[in-house]
Amino acid sequence: MSKIILTGDRPTGRLHIGHYVGSLRRRVELQNSGEYDKTYIMIADAQALTDNMDNPEKVRENIIEVALDYMSCGLDPEKSNLFIQSQISELCELTFYYMDLVTVSRLQRNPTVKSEIQMRNFEASIPVGFFTYPISQAADITAFKATTVPVGGDQLPMIEQCREIVHKFNSEYAPDKPVLVEPEALLPQNEACMRLPGTDGKAKMSKSLGNCIYLSDPAEEVSKKIMSMYTDPLHLQVSDPGHIEGNTVFTYLDAFCKPEHFDRYLKDYANLDELKAHYRRGGLGDVKVKRFLEKIMQETLEPIRNRRKELEKDIPAIYEILRKGSEVAREAAAQTLSEVKSAMRINYFEDAELIRRQSEKYQA
Ligand code: ATP
Ligand code: MG
Repeated sequence: MSKIILTGDRPTGRLHIGHYVGSLRRRVELQNSGEYDKTYIMIADAQALTDNMDNPEKVRENIIEVALDYMSCGLDPEKSNLFIQSQISELCELTFYYMDLVTVSRLQRNPTVKSEIQMRNFEASIPVGFFTYPISQAADITAFKATTVPVGGDQLPMIEQCREIVHKFNSEYAPDKPVLVEPEALLPQNEACMRLPGTDGKAKMSKSLGNCIYLSDPAEEVSKKIMSMYTDPLHLQVSDPGHIEGNTVFTYLDAFCKPEHFDRYLKDYANLDELKAHYRRGGLGDVKVKRFLEKIMQETLEPIRNRRKELEKDIPAIYEILRKGSEVAREAAAQTLSEVKSAMRINYFEDAELIRRQSEKYQA
């Protein structure tokens, strides 16, 4: 069986370091590994509209931002197919048919949707499109017969839901020759990357919450955000023992720090465990740890920022990449949709046998 990647992001803002550790960094590795037959990367504008129906301009403006962020991180349109969700109308058709396979109570149980509804104060009036976006996401994944979906931890319930839809579809409509493929989520390597908190330490870093370090933030901005980051409120004096758990600076170090960073920037310690032990004991100030984190972040973000500046010089070329990518994606999705409709027995005009049989019934 082919190995196929599908993943994407909502164009609700520029991409941030949570996206980077949650999925983007891994995608680039997978793209370059040569182990996958196809990689599809989708800008999920239709999904973004489900909770931004009153602000289509925001979605429209951010498509190019997300595309620039993708390519500046190393996604290469020669190797990965970059496309825009709304341009593939087949995805809407698939969503409509999959809706018959999912119950309202199943959707209500989805923990990510539950917390997102709360976060957006939608309790009283949830847009149906938002409520059902896990179904549309299943359409996105299955349209490309994706086997692998590299995502952050918040997306696990969506992949689970998708697998259920695939299972139901295949057993209901295609028991002998499965049409759809059950995807696997590919989660980040460690806890910190599964759900990187915002700089306020309160919740997941999220475009909608304004607690982000963006991949395209200028160096001074990154520095300012790190220096004012949430740490341990009980660590008042340098000599006080400090807490690592829930301390955002250490969570970011878990996500970004590599052994060689100590060699380069903080020779007094051999590794992160030693640094953490000193902080716990007391005698290590927040500013020293923040400065170390800042060096690591600048080293990580600088090449991304520089590549973006180059890419920004030719915006029409990026739109052209997305246009071509959308054409390729559309062909693949159309093929799956046609198989789905045959399996569901809604391919009347291609079914000569049906027409002959009905005709005989009335001629007899
Ligand atoms: P929005 O607020 O519009 O939902 P978002 O910041 O949550 O935006 P998405 O476009 O919903 O970003 O998510 C895109 C991908 O990035 C998903 O795979 C998601 O799991 C991952 N991701 C988003 N935020 C984080 C985070 N803080 N830590 C790890 N992964 C994340
Ligand atoms: Mg999100």
